[in-house]
Amino acid sequence: MLVVSATASFIVTIDGPAGTGKSTVAHRLAKRLGLEFLDTGAMYRAAALTALERGIEPADGPRVAELVRGMDLHFDWTSDPPELFADGVAVGERIRTPEVTRAVSAVASNPLVRAAMVESQRLIAARHPRLVTEGRDQGSVVFPDADVRIYLDARPEVRASRRVDQLRVKGIITTEAEVLANIIERDRLDSSRRDGPLVCPNGAAVVDTSAIDIDEVIDRLEEIVRDRAGSVLVSPHRSGHRP
Ligand code: C5P
Repeated sequence: MLVVSATASFIVTIDGPAGTGKSTVAHRLAKRLGLEFLDTGAMYRAAALTALERGIEPADGPRVAELVRGMDLHFDWTSDPPELFADGVAVGERIRTPEVTRAVSAVASNPLVRAAMVESQRLIAARHPRLVTEGRDQGSVVFPDADVRIYLDARPEVRASRRVDQLRVKGIITTEAEVLANIIERDRLDSSRRDGPLVCPNGAAVVDTSAIDIDEVIDRLEEIVRDRAGSVLVSPHRSGHRP
């Protein structure tokens, strides 16, 4: 096991399209490395959820921007993974419904929403500087100087099938065709927006997860971090880390 020196600032970014398993991978990698974990997709999802709850059309740029500017979005860092609150209420699984998933890319393409989220993510990193953060723009826009940048990818059919399994565990039943259509459409919207599009960040290590399971992905990412991080990483017994 690798552990990052307790004093050092250390940022690992993981970007990639929908359904590559980024959240699970990032959370588990963070635990292995003794770092904290930031799910930036959850922040955009919470904005989309709040817009839907208030009857605001996700594509209504000015109203969504006004909503997000006035919103209090924060994580409770004592939970693992950190729990997200929107205006004082835990969003929980409500941000994972198909309705929110359909609405989120429109909300995330709003430049004013992105500016607010980027600012808030940098503030989070200033307070939690030992972080694995995942999203679409983390290594390209938000933390271009991150210590390690990773881009996760997988074939759309594999991503759709994994998403269906994840949703089933949460009691949400959908078809693979429906999920695949949503994934393809979200990839298109996320990659084609002008502000913070989904791209492979400069210098990122690309890992295709189509043919490897989650444990192998995490082993591979740990190896990449070890190779790229050099002396910032220390052995567990020197850092006093507890598993
Ligand atoms: O990762 P997840 O599927 O939860 O992300 C939901 C949506 O949030 C994405 O489809 C994308 O539109 C948006 N997003 C983004 N930038 C990020 C993270 C997520 O635009 N850094």
